[in-house]
Amino acid sequence: MPGTKTLTIIKPGAVSHEYIGPILKIINDHGFHISAMRLLRLTRKQVENFYAVHNEKPFYNGLVEFMSSGPVVVAILEKKNAVIEYRRLIGHTDPSKAEPGTIRKMFAESVERNAVHGSDSDENAEFECDFFFSRSERFSLFDPLHF
Ligand code: UDP
Ligand code: MG
Repeated sequence: MPGTKTLTIIKPGAVSHEYIGPILKIINDHGFHISAMRLLRLTRKQVENFYAVHNEKPFYNGLVEFMSSGPVVVAILEKKNAVIEYRRLIGHTDPSKAEPGTIRKMFAESVERNAVHGSDSDENAEFECDFFFSRSERFSLFDPLHF
């Protein structure tokens, strides 16, 4: 059964352009529930660990530089089939190839500064949600204690 949560990051470029509100509205309008959220600036070390799978890629150093360059919003989003549904909503990694109406089409500046992150598998979503949030910071739709 597909999972019900995914991790998003609103990246420094989008935060500095005051796109937090517009992006969160689109996320809510597409039926995602925000079950955890924080505004913070990532250290280089945190970015290196978060994107460790890419450490051999030519864009890795630039990615670490950019992602630690200013504040970001990290959030857990819940919906049925969350990973696939959110990847569809954010669009292609390269905004010039993203479909109209996707978050990256609307808000990304370039493939490097592409507005948002979204988990790419349920397994990575687990790792990424645990990377940022403890259990007591999560307010899941599926937890009868909260809803
Ligand atoms: N990235 C980049 N140049 C590239 C490919 C990726 O700067 O040629 C950056 C971009 O910010 C991207 C991130 O590295 O979002 C992670 O790459 P991935 O292939 O995982 O893309 P995503 O899953 O974010 O669509
Ligand atoms: Mg990825």
